[in-house]
Amino acid sequence: MHSSERLLEIAVPTPLRRSFHYLPPDELPADTKPGCRFQVPFGSKSLIGILIGYTEESNTPLEKLRRAEKLLDPKPILPEAILKLCLWSADYYHHPVGDVLASAIPVLLRKGKPGQQVSHRLVATKKGKETDQSSLQRAPQQKAALTLLVRQMNGYDRKQLKAAGISSATIQALIRKGLVRRQEMTAPVTAFSLNKVNSENIILSSEQEVALNSIGDHGTWLIQGITGSGKTEIYLRAIEKILRKNFQALVLVPEIGLTPQTVQRFSNRFDVPVVLLHSGLTNQERLTAWQMASSGQAGIVIGTRSAVFTPLARPGMIVVDEEHDASLKQHDGFRYSARDLAVLRGQFEHIPVLLGSATPSLESLNNAWTGKYTSVQLRHRPVDIAKESYQIINLRNRETRDGFSKPLIRLIEQHLQSGSQVLVFLNRRGFAPVLHCPECHWTANCHRCDARMTFHLPGQRLLCHHCGNENPMPQYCEQCHAGNLLLLGIGTQKIEDRLKILFPGVRVLRIDRDSTRRKGSLASMLAELASGEPLILVGTQMIAKGHHFSEVTLSVIVDIDSSFYSTDFKAMERMGQLILQVGGRSGRSGKAGNVVIQSHFPDQPVLKQLIKEGYTQFARNLLQERRDNNLPPFCHQALVRAESKSRTRALEFLEELSATERSSPRVDLLGPVPSTMEKREGFYRAQLLFSSTSRRILHAELDLRIKFAENSKLARKVRWSIDVDPVDLY
Ligand code: ADP
Ligand code: ZN
Ligand code: ZN
Repeated sequence: MHSSERLLEIAVPTPLRRSFHYLPPDELPADTKPGCRFQVPFGSKSLIGILIGYTEESNTPLEKLRRAEKLLDPKPILPEAILKLCLWSADYYHHPVGDVLASAIPVLLRKGKPGQQVSHRLVATKKGKETDQSSLQRAPQQKAALTLLVRQMNGYDRKQLKAAGISSATIQALIRKGLVRRQEMTAPVTAFSLNKVNSENIILSSEQEVALNSIGDHGTWLIQGITGSGKTEIYLRAIEKILRKNFQALVLVPEIGLTPQTVQRFSNRFDVPVVLLHSGLTNQERLTAWQMASSGQAGIVIGTRSAVFTPLARPGMIVVDEEHDASLKQHDGFRYSARDLAVLRGQFEHIPVLLGSATPSLESLNNAWTGKYTSVQLRHRPVDIAKESYQIINLRNRETRDGFSKPLIRLIEQHLQSGSQVLVFLNRRGFAPVLHCPECHWTANCHRCDARMTFHLPGQRLLCHHCGNENPMPQYCEQCHAGNLLLLGIGTQKIEDRLKILFPGVRVLRIDRDSTRRKGSLASMLAELASGEPLILVGTQMIAKGHHFSEVTLSVIVDIDSSFYSTDFKAMERMGQLILQVGGRSGRSGKAGNVVIQSHFPDQPVLKQLIKEGYTQFARNLLQERRDNNLPPFCHQALVRAESKSRTRALEFLEELSATERSSPRVDLLGPVPSTMEKREGFYRAQLLFSSTSRRILHAELDLRIKFAENSKLARKVRWSIDVDPVDLY
């Protein structure tokens, strides 16, 4: 269908995997670029969408095309490269384009707030300029204010007027008389400039020099360096170079709240504005930070995964720290990998991307080893700290009580006596994960999930870690009413308890989601650690990320064995990363670190190799295994998940989906099967895995299946989603 007008192609925030065509609003400036927002009619509603392009033709008959209501932006809120990144993502992750674009921008922009910072100014009206000021003879305050405002065409903001001694009552009076009015103006943008670098007299090691000098104008670098080897120092030096040319840097980190020190190092080093983008911000704070990034005011933008979409006026570099971290992947809704998108964004913007980690993901290592990324290694610590040493305590034929074996207790004692701190890692919060009846073997399960309830000490409550369901601790077995219920297994609270009994008088701190809920509690515990007093720190993976515990000389991994039972092909990779990340927290300031792992499988070859030969060799072998078994990164995967309130419906839908003819024999289907935890939050879940050695073929297949699903009656009765390059296979 032809139309004489150019049609707007607009991404509207709907769950539909398509964009929509609109007739342009009246008097649309001819140079309106993609990336601008439009108010558009959609069904009976009016929504804010984003222009993604123009088209001459539409499948929609002309008489059915609706007209966009109005243009909201004088210039695009998303630059070309970011728009391209979003469109690419919608395609690659098979996610509705409207939703992709909506998740890429701050909430307030979705609601129509301006893309540029505006200041509210007070200006003299026409009447105010022409009025005879002698008429204000009896209101000298008002007269003074008006005189001031008449002389300044752009007016003043409230603060400035207050500073000039003019009260808000005076202003109100002038507004009532129609002599002054409020006006919104785009705030002038002051681009940052770098004047001072506070480099703390650090002289780069030769290894660091080599690494820094290898970083070029564009491409991707994988910086693999043991913890404390000076990766962050490399980021800082590389960023310094680009700041000097007035380009901006984007730094992606797994979790900002956990690592305030890292953020501080960036802002202490340079005298440029550093803005943070993370989930703890209010909508207004987020918008302001975004505006400072996109206008070019901020020199450095530090953010969690969604910050990968933040526009920069003068992009210069992207850093992805802890690139192996699973939290860089979005786990629901629009499931993207911020790391992978950062690499792509670097290509779109022709800027360098630095991926850093002590324990890089196997896919990044593979990319480095096949020459896609430039590989940079830091093998030593620049300051004279010995590398930590690893030791396994064999739990076979050895008694433990609440997780502690005798040799472990002795070791902790020795380290405390020598005046050091000890770190005890267990990735399970709560007191005990199982409440068990010894008479009939009943266990307390969540009625909404296929999961056990974890007992938590405060309030003596049972909590489901999957849905938040909470019950008081029962006195009697629900099945046989016996009264001698047992708490089995260990959580961080029990570890804390036990340590207090084992080492009376020694301070024990616990860092997990429960103990850090109150604002400031994490900071105060970190401060206590930094004081250097001998103490024991117990924690979950919250303590395995980014922290520098300079007084810790012993790190304990209480239990690693669950990795050996896992059916997830990534379990071993994660185990290795976790051990080295926990181990890397120790051994600073002249004292060597010791890492102790308790296991019933001390001879497990992968574990032994990790400890003896290090991460690179460990990763090389795991990659070989992946290659032999045709697993990622040697094949590409996409997981279709479905869930429904009825036990069978999700499976039925996936069965229907898997029954259609494959487009190519090179696509493999696994399933459908019920998920490992079939029931969660009251929904029954199932999954279907697609894999292929060809990305192109896999995506063609997915396109086909999605079309099918979109026309399926069953699909409407379930919630289903696609996860491309899934990180968790359940
Ligand atoms: P990573 O990010 O690899 O863990 P960092 O960059 O945080 O390592 O460095 C660890 C510590 O060593 C920091 O306190 C840092 O200031 C210091 N450091 C880094 N490079 C040097 C150097 N060349 N000389 C002295 N100290 C250094
Ligand atoms: Zn019972
Ligand atoms: Zn539950």
